[in-house]
Amino acid sequence: MSPSKSTLDLINYHLVPPVFLIVFTVATQYLSYNGNPSRNFELWFVLGNSFGWKCIASLVAWALIWLWLPSKTFNGPTTSFGYTPVYQANGELYYFISVAALLVISFVQPSICVSIYENFGPILGGLNILALSLCAYLWIKAKLKSDEKDPYLLDKKYPVLHEFYRGMELHPRILGVDVKQLTNCRIGMIMWQLLIIIFLIAGWQLHGFNGGHLVNVLLQTIYIYKFFRWETGYFNTLDITLDRAGYYLCWGCLVWIPSFYTFHSYFFVYHQPTLGSLANIMIFLLGLLSIYYNYNVDRQKELFRTSLDKSVKIWGKPAQYLKVVYKTADGKQRESKLLLSGWWGVARKINYTFELLAAFLWSVPGGFVFGIWPFLYFAFLLALLVHRIYRDESKCLDKYGRGWNDYCLKVKYRLIPYVF
Ligand code: NDP
Repeated sequence: MSPSKSTLDLINYHLVPPVFLIVFTVATQYLSYNGNPSRNFELWFVLGNSFGWKCIASLVAWALIWLWLPSKTFNGPTTSFGYTPVYQANGELYYFISVAALLVISFVQPSICVSIYENFGPILGGLNILALSLCAYLWIKAKLKSDEKDPYLLDKKYPVLHEFYRGMELHPRILGVDVKQLTNCRIGMIMWQLLIIIFLIAGWQLHGFNGGHLVNVLLQTIYIYKFFRWETGYFNTLDITLDRAGYYLCWGCLVWIPSFYTFHSYFFVYHQPTLGSLANIMIFLLGLLSIYYNYNVDRQKELFRTSLDKSVKIWGKPAQYLKVVYKTADGKQRESKLLLSGWWGVARKINYTFELLAAFLWSVPGGFVFGIWPFLYFAFLLALLVHRIYRDESKCLDKYGRGWNDYCLKVKYRLIPYVF
């Protein structure tokens, strides 16, 4: 027997927001303690410390400067209420200069990486305060003076905590920049990259070089570089087109990414991986393939969607597709195309399959001697992506109606053909 609508609403609107807000926020502080048992947890960590706040302020200022600098721009997809967000298209340069700056700083001031590692708890405390304050501001802004003509914002039936958790506006701007580009790309994703390098160097300085830790960081580095190289493609993904700026997305990028996505690399500083060189090389090669195929799937869709009316070849043959129609908020009928060729004919979310494989492979250099801890990110990603599959399916069904059902009949499986 499936739960009634009122039970689902109770869970979705009243239970999930407060429980997740508390559990996830507290978990980030707990993990910083769990990953580094040489440092005792102290309650004042939750307020940050002067070192942590200096690191956070420097990074936020750095990210803002790069969004203020004149650069090429990129127009994101127009929303159903007619707004076209504009982004700075300097992600790849931002990535290279940020990594280079970290390497120079750690060369000039060799103790900096160990200091950041040792102060990771207070840094996360500061990030929590920053992110929660931003989410509160975004909620108030949406309530008092939203610039978006989004029907969702006029719908007053949601509980406050649900609104805070899920977010309100789709494309809010503050200080002249797009909030999601700032929090997701220019702070969250770059912190992921910088922190794992910092943890690798800290581990090296404290306990000596470790090949498994290097493989763990190298694979993630390739994955993160791919993100910045393709940053403008990210503006077409669900984070941008479906998720609203609130706790789920903005707190997620400002705190959850730096604490949870980096956790295995943080953990490996103290708990050094023990696999041999051959195993590490195999893991690296398989990880590389998974990242490549994850990119390749996304790239096929991007090529197809941006080709306008020109025919595109996928796997050597002209792309097959299904024409679908949808209505915009102003009632106009539009046409779209769902790709049936290449990876998109194998399974509807095979990009997620390769994403999961890559995440598993960069967690595995620790072997299985440390229990679940190095695999926390993989387990979380599995839950996140399966949930996201259903969210995306419901979005596509709402948008394309019967056309979406026809597409699902042609491409039957989600992650793995004949399994799921
Ligand atoms: P997708 O790239 O699968 O995009 C889904 C959207 O693509 C749908 O809503 C629909 O939008 C369109 N679409 C669906 N099927 C087709 C088709 N056959 N042909 C053309 N368009 C189609 O999902 P995400 O945005 O979630 O993921 C993008 C990347 O980000 C992936 O590589 C994923 O692995 C990664 N990712 C990583 C996460 C992490 O935390 N590490 C989290 C989430 C994603 P439309 O309305 O345009 O038709």
